[in-house]
Amino acid sequence: MAAPPAGPVSPASASPSAAAHGQGRPCVITRRATFSASHRYWLPELAPEENQARFGPCSLAPGHGHNYELIVAMGGGLDANGMVLNLSEVKHAIREQITAQLDFRFLNEAWPEFDLSRPEGVLPTTEALVHAIWKRLETHLPLMGLRLYETDKLWADVIGDSMEAFLTIRTHFAAAHRLARPELSFEENTAIYGKCARPHGHGHNYLLDITVRGAIDPRSGMVCDLAALQSLVDDLVVEPFDHTFLNKDVEHFASTVPTAENIALHIADLLQAPIGNLGAALHKVRLQESPNNAAEVFAEVPQLGMNPQALEALAGA
Ligand SMILES: [Zn+2]
Ligand SMILES: [Zn+2]
Repeated sequence: MAAPPAGPVSPASASPSAAAHGQGRPCVITRRATFSASHRYWLPELAPEENQARFGPCSLAPGHGHNYELIVAMGGGLDANGMVLNLSEVKHAIREQITAQLDFRFLNEAWPEFDLSRPEGVLPTTEALVHAIWKRLETHLPLMGLRLYETDKLWADVIGDSMEAFLTIRTHFAAAHRLARPELSFEENTAIYGKCARPHGHGHNYLLDITVRGAIDPRSGMVCDLAALQSLVDDLVVEPFDHTFLNKDVEHFASTVPTAENIALHIADLLQAPIGNLGAALHKVRLQESPNNAAEVFAEVPQLGMNPQALEALAGA
């Protein structure tokens, strides 16, 4: 993290004006930027059939495109003007270093990082791209975290210049449930769960975010096989949960009250080992039950709060 720029104003303790502007106190700021770019997943060392088998439609020539959204989180102490950084300088750095170079470009050819004719070239996946963006921005801005949305259902986070990234896929399912403990009376359940204890249940359109952590493969650019990850989540969660009455149709909830918390925990338990077999680690399950409530379970270390905290700033994008 960069030190706050030295300003012409004397230290905060000596200046009521500086103190009023919070000089020296730490703060995280975020800036959003967008660009549109195309890419193609195709490794020259593989036969056409192997590329097709491994990357599916992403291997098709001449490629396909996305509207990318980049969130840049930066941290530092406030200067005498009450800012971590001058926002016009932030905008300029992101434009010069990133968006002006990538917007309306073919990623495989835009940066040498993605030149696959070089042995060190890497496929421009979401996680490889956000890692490359980190490397190019880190000398210009006091980065704390980067998030890159490829779509609203796929994004990657990095929080340092190591090859480690967090990849999140979003999916959804619809299900009904009833919140009640069988050993309690209706009145007692109503006192605890309110309307959710009504006898015939009610339903939600659940939004499910699965975040995995892993090292970016230096050639494929992936923390794990994305299609395999999507299949796991479909097969183990979406297919068995979608359009069910959870209390009756999913065995686990015959004896466990299907609160959002318990559903998220059960999903984490279902996915943890299979995702490990893909070579990544299940980092987080976030289950949003309605626009107003969600449950998050950190699967690697049972804990409360964000780890790393820098991702919190990115989450509000
Ligand atoms: Zn793509
Ligand atoms: Zn409910």
